[in-house]
Amino acid sequence: MRRAFLLPALVAMVLTVPAIAPAQLFGIGKKPSAQSQIKLGRQAAQDLRKQGHVLPDNDPRVRTLRRVAQRLLSTIEADEPWEYSFDMIDSKEVNAFALPGGAVFFYTGLYDRLKTEDELAGVLAHELTHVRREHWARRSAEQQKRNGLLMIGMIALGANNNVAQGVGLVNSMYTMQFSRGDENDADVRGFDMMTKAGYNPEGMADVFRMLGSLGGKQPEFLSDHPSDKNRVNRIEDLAKKSGKSYPPLTPIRN
Ligand SMILES: [Zn+2]
Repeated sequence: MRRAFLLPALVAMVLTVPAIAPAQLFGIGKKPSAQSQIKLGRQAAQDLRKQGHVLPDNDPRVRTLRRVAQRLLSTIEADEPWEYSFDMIDSKEVNAFALPGGAVFFYTGLYDRLKTEDELAGVLAHELTHVRREHWARRSAEQQKRNGLLMIGMIALGANNNVAQGVGLVNSMYTMQFSRGDENDADVRGFDMMTKAGYNPEGMADVFRMLGSLGGKQPEFLSDHPSDKNRVNRIEDLAKKSGKSYPPLTPIRN
């Protein structure tokens, strides 16, 4: 889904990764450290921005995206190392994703289909949870354990250890499918984050419904479980069980 668009960036990153991914940072099968996640994500984000499809800072959609994101981030109390950034890519693709370490990319193809700031907050809170809970890093460690033999093969064929590990890690940032458990975690904690920030959780359920009705390829938000109506039901259950009344939905004005 993301591969065609990202291929030039991916090639560029494969070439640049060894400089930022020394082997000692990533022992095979070990979860990459927070600093490693931030470095990898930052490099990938810079390469994505260089492709020239990112909207300028003064675009009203970018401003709305960052304003809603800041409101969500203001609910985080603990000290966290993540380096957040929020960019909007001008593309018809219906997508949004977070790179490890905190760089979030939102596509106009998804943004333009959203009706309320609560929907936007729902997607962002879900993606921010993937970052904060280090879902990519955990899956990456598991994947590397499984792919250990493949890497040893690459090294035998002449790729050095850093390159082999770097290629595997970078590719996995775009091709990894989160587990159902990770998706549940992102929904439930995303729900907490958005409601703490004063958004109406119905926005998250609305996005699931809207995306479910599109058919075809699905964005990260739905991952590999596009028809799972349980996700809508769970959000609505959480809202009911909280016993709280939520503010009205806020329409997006631009
Ligand atoms: Zn997700």
